Amino acid sequence: MPTVNLRSFKQIVKHSKRSIRNFLTRLEKKQPRNLEQIKLEADKQTWKEINCLDCANCCKTMSPTYTVQDVKRISKHLDMSEKDFRKKWLYKDRTGDWMNKKQPCQFLDLKTNMCDIYELRPRDCAGFPHHTKKKMNADYMHMFKQNIEFCPATYNLVEKIKEKVQEK
Ligand code: SF4
Ligand code: SF4
Repeated sequence: MPTVNLRSFKQIVKHSKRSIRNFLTRLEKKQPRNLEQIKLEADKQTWKEINCLDCANCCKTMSPTYTVQDVKRISKHLDMSEKDFRKKWLYKDRTGDWMNKKQPCQFLDLKTNMCDIYELRPRDCAGFPHHTKKKMNADYMHMFKQNIEFCPATYNLVEKIKEKVQEK
């Protein structure tokens, strides 16, 4: 049985995102001392429950930010100039970052949910959803707040943290 049902995920998020975001705001203001430990345990549990190949919602609805190295590596693999690669697939956003023009991502195989350039994918994709590297503090809480809406794994992670923090 698939580990993710995107249709029901979207319904659940629609009804609960405000309360989850309020929880994250409270967490940002007052953190338990062992929050990072709680988060890492919740992350481990989350990946036992969720398989990204049942989902691919990040690749369908969000864009990675491409670094200079990403563009260099991927365009070379595709035998394109960096300029042509940018022109064909990317645009520069308001902050100057290179992003995908279209969603779903041009490299996503919609039949299998697999990435056609998996080994060479942008660094941002490789790190997504950034549960372990980004701390739940003022610098990154906005990222968790945003990603609960798109990523079932982040949603699951935050729900688990909520249960743990409220148990105390
Ligand atoms: S990282 Fe999140 S949004 Fe992306 S495929 Fe995995 S569960 Fe889905
Ligand atoms: S490059 Fe691959 S992993 Fe990154 S968004 Fe596109 S399909 Fe997904």
